[in-house]
Amino acid sequence: MKGVFILSNDNQFVHLFSPLDLGHTVLKNRILMGSMHTGLEESKNGQMKLARYFAERAKGGVGLIVTGGISPNLAGRVTPFSAQLSFSFQVKKHKIITQAVHAEGGKIVMQILHSGRYGYHPFAVAPSPIKSPISPFKPWALTARGVNKTISDFVASANLAQQAGYDGVEVMGSEGYLINEFISSKTNKRKDKWGGDYGNRIKLAVQIVSQIRRAVGANFIIIFRLSMLDLVEKGSTWQEIVELAKAIEKAGASIINTGIGWHEARIPTIATVVPRGAFSFVTRKLKGEVKIPLIATNRINTPEVAEGILARGDADMVSMARPLLADPFFPQKAQSGRSDEINTCIACNQACLDHIFKNINASCLVNPFACRELEMVSVKTKQAKHIIVVGAGPAGLSFALSAAERGHHVRVFDSESEIGGQFKLACQIPGKNEFAETIRYYKKKMQLLSIEFVAGSEVTPEIIEREKKAGKCDEIVLATGIIPRHPKIEGIDHASVLSYLDVLKKKVPVGKRVAIIGAGGIGVDVTHFLLGDHGESDNVSTFMKFWGIDPELSVRGGVEGLRPCMPAADREIYLMHRKDEVPGRGPGKTTGWIYRSMFKNQGVHLMAGVQYKRIDDQGLHIEQSGKEIVLKVDNVVVCAGQESNNSLANLLSARGISFHLIGGAFKAAELDAKGAILQGATLGLDI
Ligand code: FAD
Ligand code: NAP
Ligand code: SF4
Repeated sequence: MKGVFILSNDNQFVHLFSPLDLGHTVLKNRILMGSMHTGLEESKNGQMKLARYFAERAKGGVGLIVTGGISPNLAGRVTPFSAQLSFSFQVKKHKIITQAVHAEGGKIVMQILHSGRYGYHPFAVAPSPIKSPISPFKPWALTARGVNKTISDFVASANLAQQAGYDGVEVMGSEGYLINEFISSKTNKRKDKWGGDYGNRIKLAVQIVSQIRRAVGANFIIIFRLSMLDLVEKGSTWQEIVELAKAIEKAGASIINTGIGWHEARIPTIATVVPRGAFSFVTRKLKGEVKIPLIATNRINTPEVAEGILARGDADMVSMARPLLADPFFPQKAQSGRSDEINTCIACNQACLDHIFKNINASCLVNPFACRELEMVSVKTKQAKHIIVVGAGPAGLSFALSAAERGHHVRVFDSESEIGGQFKLACQIPGKNEFAETIRYYKKKMQLLSIEFVAGSEVTPEIIEREKKAGKCDEIVLATGIIPRHPKIEGIDHASVLSYLDVLKKKVPVGKRVAIIGAGGIGVDVTHFLLGDHGESDNVSTFMKFWGIDPELSVRGGVEGLRPCMPAADREIYLMHRKDEVPGRGPGKTTGWIYRSMFKNQGVHLMAGVQYKRIDDQGLHIEQSGKEIVLKVDNVVVCAGQESNNSLANLLSARGISFHLIGGAFKAAELDAKGAILQGATLGLDI
């Protein structure tokens, strides 16, 4: 039965919802919730919060959950206060999680993660004392005794996980963490039996798995996360990966999960610019080499993509981490033919990974309830109100859903004919078409919750007064968004000057030489838009060439000796701001570097510390480092931030009509969709 699909015809996703028999236990479907650190692991009352968070996903029907990484010892922690499972007194807390998941009919395994040289603290250890490019701490080299102790710490942690009621463990062997560091000659320069040839370098991985298997017995899941595409020089060759997979199977692993790219790799692996399911081909290559089930991962965010991977035989299971943050009920909705109700992960990283890097608990941009299951609770209202929402952007829509779920009668007005607000512009940016999924989700939910959309209706105080008189408006929510900032620069009204709305909304033609004023999120997006779409975010082989990945893995790590092959821009673009830091940091930590890398490769001029002097027929006059420069451009595109659109708010205030203000209309500076959606949902819970 292992890995065999039991097909029935009553569901569109027959492979996805076929059980997976592991011998001692059966997983109800092929969906794995991949490991994701949320920060709840270390927060106050964290186990209770995690229990609710995981239980919600179990209730939503996922086949198997993997927890965030838990260190087997002090040195292995990712940060000084990261979670660790090494002592029996810690078992009790984990039981809260396993019991909550089991009560919902789910299964859960605990990931054991030793961060190795990625440890962000002075106790970090590694095979050799080589600092990683992404941590300021140089690791200590493990002694031979230290290696043995590390193995026994992994085993002890697995034993404790078993006592805590977990259904298994996942051994994190990829993404450039300790085990992966032992495997690669890039980071392993040891001369003892743990270094040297490949057979020696994979010994740590194999010993950890075999010793855990011996300790936990046969009836316990062991997943090994194996780096199948390192995306760094001196990574493994394909033959080596196959050798490791076979050794791991022999050592007693139940399942092999796919790892793609070390964290220090300079190739995007999960961001929105990565095509959906782009890396399942790697898992496919390993099929047939081992008999245990294989899991494909990365950018699998719809049931259609997941089903395609399984149906093609690329893998036996699919891992989805962020998509289950975005929608805990993804599996249930897909299984019951309601996949159009799924709140799709748009791969923005803004509220999940970017939060973790800032030491903030993870959540989700499109689902602010994620990781806040105990705090943001929707309670049916006892007094249903008639609510008018002005503005069908993310803030207004999020509010509308949250309030209507509680039983309020909500109508959403927008001057435009379609819902979405600025998301309609965002989804035109190459690689950001996922944003259209959020609009699709809102549209569907509005239909399900009987939220009326009044399209093409510019709301005025007269309309509000009329509705109030008719008894159809108990509360008003203004989500009227923003207006682009029109900076005070001499010549700002010159014919060559366009706003980002002219470019993205009105589709005004843009010349071959362009200066972009403002390098925040929108400046970066407009630059990307003007560089053009070469299909690198939709087509897997174009993506591979674009970023310099060899899909055959004929070179080490899939990248050794290769360079990105990005088409040269057919425009001369200057992206600039007044700050001194390199432009392009606008988007978050986990995505900003991707855009900077693309812009560098495509010849965009990134200019910092710029002072704007004037715009005239010659072009844009600036001063940089005390030097006057004339950029002879055809167009200047202004992306200089935004100001709240509160003209309606002011008019209502003048008439003494009270209202709630949310989203960009409330605060434009630094407001993004994450803030707008959270604010809308929160008000919806309170009103
Ligand atoms: P808006 O989306 O601006 O919606 C306001 C709505 O109100 C509009 O539909 C408007 O027509 C309507 N309206 C205004 N006045 C009236 C009236 N009197 N009557 C009727 N209707 C009215 N944010 C991110 O977090 N991540 C991103 O990657 C991202 N990318 C972006 C890319 C682009 C190109 C752009 C332009 C924005 C991007 N943003 C991104 C920003 C994000 O879209 C905004 O922060 C968000 O849309 C703000 O939501 P909102 O609901 O407050 O306002
Ligand atoms: P933003 O990120 O605040 O950037 C505004 C830019 O304009 C900055 O580069 C700023 O740099 C410049 N600026 C500000 N005032 C100026 C002035 N008076 N004259 C000239 N330049 C000025 O705003 P945004 O780009 O409009 O984006 C709006 C929101 O959407 C933001 O919250 C952003 O995070 C979000 N967003 C996010 C993404 C993403 O991928 N994550 C993408 C798009 C948008 P200087 O002050 O240094 O000149
Ligand atoms: Fe996906 Fe963005 Fe939500 Fe993270 S924040 S889970 S990337 S939609």
